[in-house]
Amino acid sequence: MQDRGYYSRFGGCFIPEVLVRTFEQLTSAFEDAKRDPTFWAEYVRLMASYSGRPTPLTFAGNLSAHFGGGKIYIKREDLNHTGAHKANNVMGQGLLVQRMGKRRVIAETGAGQHGVATATMAAKFGFECTIYMGEVDVQRQRPNVFWMQRMGAKVVPVRDGARTLKDSINEAFRDWVTNMDTTHYVLGTACGPHPFPEMVRYFQSIVGQEARQQILEQTGQLPRRIYACVGGGSNALGVFNAFLDDPSELIGVEAGGKGIATGHHAARLASADGSVGVAQGYKTFFLQNEDGQMRETHSVAAGLDYVGVSPILAHLKETGRVRFEAATDREVVDALALTARKEGLIPALESSHAFAQAFKEVGSLPQSDTIIINQSGRGDKDIFTVADAFADAEWKEFIRSKARGYDA
Ligand SMILES: *Cc1c(COP(=O)(O)O)cnc(C)c1O
Repeated sequence: MQDRGYYSRFGGCFIPEVLVRTFEQLTSAFEDAKRDPTFWAEYVRLMASYSGRPTPLTFAGNLSAHFGGGKIYIKREDLNHTGAHKANNVMGQGLLVQRMGKRRVIAETGAGQHGVATATMAAKFGFECTIYMGEVDVQRQRPNVFWMQRMGAKVVPVRDGARTLKDSINEAFRDWVTNMDTTHYVLGTACGPHPFPEMVRYFQSIVGQEARQQILEQTGQLPRRIYACVGGGSNALGVFNAFLDDPSELIGVEAGGKGIATGHHAARLASADGSVGVAQGYKTFFLQNEDGQMRETHSVAAGLDYVGVSPILAHLKETGRVRFEAATDREVVDALALTARKEGLIPALESSHAFAQAFKEVGSLPQSDTIIINQSGRGDKDIFTVADAFADAEWKEFIRSKARGYDA
């Protein structure tokens, strides 16, 4: 499909000399696994017994009636064990680590979701596990840190730079260079040097495979549009992949933050603020200054504030196969509230970006059309942020009384 990890001019594998052998070993383990007909079957079995796959495709009748346009179907990645699509990637990489005979895994995490998923995988497979997490994110996502530690992972707060995701990636690479013979780096999204974008897309493609079969079974037709939020791009590529050769429109939704015009956002592809560069081992659109310094990003969703984006999505933007949009923090919180009220579903703030964009567009589609929204994860983890956004007085009092309980 691509030559040495290039998707037209994006991707590649820009790594220090010392890691070349490790990447070759990883690439050949991945290629071997793909050629082995039992491997995908083993992966599907593991995900069925451990992570509730296949996840349902839910018809959202009340939301569809509310907007009065196309029919809305929701792919329920929130029902995975650990609450998001990230399980698909980490469990798949766990099987590869086993094949390579390694005993230790490391990972970076932003929202903490990938850290929890990796710690879960390590506990299940019996691997040692170290998680690098920006200090800011450690504070924002304390409950996730708590569970990673319970599952036996060592959580290392990263104090460099903006103390968020990109700094943790740098730190995880430093660890890998030191421990590459024993250790596998579980990259959390379809970014980074080859073969990671391809590998992560491969495991996440289970989402679209299921969704395509499910929508055909339930409606007898292909969806008019498919919406997915875009952090690094793994859930979007996962659901889009099975539909690339279909007429369905594919829409990736990035973090519009406080609004594109304010500069406080993470829209690398949907705004004109992104530019092509090489960083963190690969070539893509980054939010960077003219001298290549990475800019600070902002999103209400901790999982969408990364400065880079999958080289595969950068390529699909340039070919026009995927349209990119941005949803603002405000639109996202409103979309979450409406979805909870109408359907009893609580999408993650990340996933709510896809909902917000779909809600802007679905009313103008004919009722004979269907759309799929990928609910990449569940929003229970976001209760602190969401309750703050709604300035919920009783929640504030609950937090205060908890805090008093600890002071006493
Ligand atoms: C991590 C995360 C994302 C963003 O990652 P992608 O690689 O872009 O999918 C989106 N939704 C949820 C629920 C997440 O946890």
